[in-house]
Amino acid sequence: MKVTPKVRGFICTTAHPTGCEAAVRKQIDYVKTQPKTEGPKKVLVIGSSMGYGLASRIAAAYSCGAATIGVMFDRPASGNKTATSGWYNTKAFEKFAVEDGLYAKTINGDAYSDECKKEVIELIKSDLGKVDMVVYSLAAPRRAVGDTVYSSVLKTTGESYTNKTIDLRNNCVSEITIEPATEEEITATVKVMGGEDWEAWIDALKAADAIEDGAVTVAYSYIGPKLTHPMYFEGSIGRAKAHLYETAKKITKDGIKAYISVNKALVTQSSAAIPIVPLYISILYKVMKAKGNHEGCIEQMYRLFNQKLYGESVQTDENGMIRLDDLEMQKDVQDEVTELWNTLSQDNLKECADLDGYWEDFYALFGFGIEGVDYESDVDV
Ligand code: NAD
Repeated sequence: MKVTPKVRGFICTTAHPTGCEAAVRKQIDYVKTQPKTEGPKKVLVIGSSMGYGLASRIAAAYSCGAATIGVMFDRPASGNKTATSGWYNTKAFEKFAVEDGLYAKTINGDAYSDECKKEVIELIKSDLGKVDMVVYSLAAPRRAVGDTVYSSVLKTTGESYTNKTIDLRNNCVSEITIEPATEEEITATVKVMGGEDWEAWIDALKAADAIEDGAVTVAYSYIGPKLTHPMYFEGSIGRAKAHLYETAKKITKDGIKAYISVNKALVTQSSAAIPIVPLYISILYKVMKAKGNHEGCIEQMYRLFNQKLYGESVQTDENGMIRLDDLEMQKDVQDEVTELWNTLSQDNLKECADLDGYWEDFYALFGFGIEGVDYESDVDV
C-alpha cells in the first residue's frame, strides 16, 4: 500500500518502512565516515529503536564493532496499519548489521518487567556471555509495577509557569501555563523516568553474572537553559532526572561505572510531547545551524563514544556528568536563543525559528521526507 503521514498533534500514527530503512542507513553511513573507537564489544541498549537509543546502538556497532542486543517496545504492522517507526528502524538496523558481519538481536517487550529482563539475560548468556556496556535510553509515558500503573507527567513543581509555546497542530504561537504537579504525580514520574529500573537492570545482570566487572553503563538526561527550567530541569521530569543522577552514584559505588550523559535537545517522539520545548528546539536549530555546530542524535552519540566515554579518558564536568550539551549551552548560542525567544511572535516566527527544520526532523522520525525514497510507490508494510 501507499503510506502517507497521519499526524495528530505531536504524534504520527503511520511510519514508512523504506523511509525508516533509509534514515537508519544514513546514520550508519555517517558513523562509517568517522574514525573508529576502541570501545565496548558487547552492548545492551535498553530503548534501542528510536532517538538517542537507536543512535547509541548504531555508534556502538559501527564505531566500536560491538555486538548489540536491543530492547524496545514497538508494534508490528497489522492489517493495513503500519508498524511503529521503531519497529521498522530495528528491522533495518538488524538487516544492515548482519550484512556487515555484526551480531544484532532485539527483544520487543516491556523493559520495566521482570519477564523482559529475564528474556534478555538468557539471550546475553547464550549468545554473548556477558555485556561490557549497558545503555539505558528509555523514554516512556508509563510503567506497570504489579497491578499499579505509574504515569509520568510533564509539569512544574511548586508554582505554575507561563511562557510561549507552539501548538504543533497549527504552528500557532501562544502562551501556555503549566500547572504544578501534585506530590503523587511527581512520585509517579520518578518511578517511570527515574533510576529505579536502571538499577534493577544492573542488579539483575550482576545476579546472573551477565555483566563484566569493568563494564560501563550510561543513562541520558537533559538540563537546558533557564527558560525551560521550570518546565524541565526543575519540573516533574527534572525530579526523575535528579533521581537518575543519584542512581548513577549508587551503581558506581556498587561496582559498575555509571554515567549520566546530558544530551542536546533534539526532535524525538518524546521531546515533541513537552510543552515549550519544541519552540525552544526550533530556535536552537536556527542558531546552531547558522553557526555550523548543529548536531543530530547520531553525531551526539558518536561523540559520546569516540570522545567522551572511550577517548583517552572519560570526560565529565565537576559533577561527574558527561556534557554532550556543551555546544548547545555555549554562551554565544544561548545569548542568541534568548534574544530570538524574547522577540518571537506569530508574525516573525519564520525569521526567529527553524520551524521547517523542526518539522523535517519530525517527519523523518517516521521515515517521511527522506531523500531518495519513492513515496508514490506501494510498499509492503
Ligand atoms: P525516544 O522516544 O526517541 O525513544 C524511546 C525508546 O524507548 C524507544 O526505543 C522505545 O521503543 C523505548 N521504550 C519506551 N518504553 C519502553 C518500554 N516500556 N520497554 C522497552 N522499551 C521502551 O526517546 P529519546 O528522546 O531518544 O529519549 C531517550 C533518553 O534520552 C530519555 O532518557 C530522554 O530523557 C533523554 N534525552 C532526550 C533528549 C531529547 O531532546 N530528545 C535530550 C536529552 C536527553
